[in-house]
Amino acid sequence: MNYKQALKHKIFKTISKSAAELNLDSYVIGGFVRDFLLQRGDAKDIDIVAIGSGIDLAKQVAKNLPNKPKVQVFKTYGTAMLKLNDIEVEFVGARKESYNEDSRNPIVENGTLQDDQNRRDFSINALALDLSEDNFGNLLDPFNGIQDLENKIIRTPLNPDITYSDDPLRMMRAIRFATQLGFIIEKESLDAITRNNKRIKIITNERIVVELNKILESKTPSTGFLLLEKTGLLQYILPELTALKGIDEVDGQKHKDNFYHTLEVVDNIAKHTDDVWLRWAALLHDIGKAPTKKFNKKVGWTFHGHEFEGSKMVYHLFKRLKMPLNDKMKFVQKLVFMSSRPIVLAQDIVTDSAVRRLVFDAGDYVDDLMTLCEADITTKNPKKFNKYHNNFKIVRKKIVEVEEKDHVRNFQPPISGEEIIKTFNLKPSREIGIIKEAIKEAILEGEIPNEYEPAYKLMIKKGQDLGLKISE
Ligand code: ATP
Repeated sequence: MNYKQALKHKIFKTISKSAAELNLDSYVIGGFVRDFLLQRGDAKDIDIVAIGSGIDLAKQVAKNLPNKPKVQVFKTYGTAMLKLNDIEVEFVGARKESYNEDSRNPIVENGTLQDDQNRRDFSINALALDLSEDNFGNLLDPFNGIQDLENKIIRTPLNPDITYSDDPLRMMRAIRFATQLGFIIEKESLDAITRNNKRIKIITNERIVVELNKILESKTPSTGFLLLEKTGLLQYILPELTALKGIDEVDGQKHKDNFYHTLEVVDNIAKHTDDVWLRWAALLHDIGKAPTKKFNKKVGWTFHGHEFEGSKMVYHLFKRLKMPLNDKMKFVQKLVFMSSRPIVLAQDIVTDSAVRRLVFDAGDYVDDLMTLCEADITTKNPKKFNKYHNNFKIVRKKIVEVEEKDHVRNFQPPISGEEIIKTFNLKPSREIGIIKEAIKEAILEGEIPNEYEPAYKLMIKKGQDLGLKISE
């Protein structure tokens, strides 16, 4: 292969020229080279290693570019970055790293290209292309990364026990790359991750969540969660999920393994949405089942109130992992809380009023809720599978119809509290609430349309039933 094709962007010639002016060698390394070879589309990040000062090289490059972009210097890290439209080019001096037991931040010294490649996490991330004028486009692949790309293997350049123990974030990265790229983690590496799993505790939650999100955003997220479970990492990161593992049996009655069920739901939903928060909702929709599980001789296994319990757990989980406690969290909570509602509907004859109530309660989340609930159908019984899916089709159709007719999605009562007060000359009192509730119920039940006139009539009738007098 002609690796020069990877270097078609004019920035590479500018770097090459700038490096020659400073009399140093430079290379493009890591994800850019890997993703070019995997044809993963145009990269947004380019990492440049200079054998010398990365900061000086960045400044020289900026000087040689027609628009003289600003160089952002990160002195503490000895790196510099400049932006070219939507591409970020990061410059670093080649370095040698050594680690302490209690930190993933290494002691850094200047080094050679080989030193720099040694510190890379995986053979496929250590590939470098020479940018020097004489050897422009030459590949430097000391760990057979090309072969690993072909064989779809994640392998560390050096001893995996040392690599993972030095920086345990690499364990998450290995699993994330395996999931994103559909690669296999080499056995030695997988065993080393398992041996070092406890070391994940020194990694900040923010970094763990970055990797979890990337796993969730992949085509088949279950690959990552199965690996996290197999290596023992999951119990440290998301114990709520490992608690769902296993099948209990009492008096010959079993429940399903809710961990594997959850992963099936996540894979299902990944086919229908790219929204990572909806995927989180799928991942967490059953977490309330572990603490609510009970066995009852008459009815077998129950998980009463698991949706409410689960939605409370979502908050604690987001807080622990330092995820945003904002409307995204509320969205996940609400979906978990309502996750059983549509299936209850779908098991029966779908009535308009049940659909109206669903739309009323779910509001703008109703479509996402339907997507989650369709993904939740993992039954292997084809009769049930078809029945539920057909019923969900009816529910979806009715949602549109009901919405067109009654607009209950973001319900605004057609009669305000003010109007009730004025009509009956009331002081703030219980009756106002009773009348408002009666109007809402009548609309949801389909007894009256969501319109002013019929609601007004009902208000008068309810007021009279309560013994209220219409003011003059
Ligand atoms: P992506 O952009 O999908 O995250 P990437 O490989 O470009 O993939 P970056 O985090 O941008 O990931 O890292 C750039 C390069 O830096 C990697 O290709 C790898 O060579 C190196 N690298 C990043 N993180 C580590 C790490 N924790 N340990 C060793 N090398 C790393």
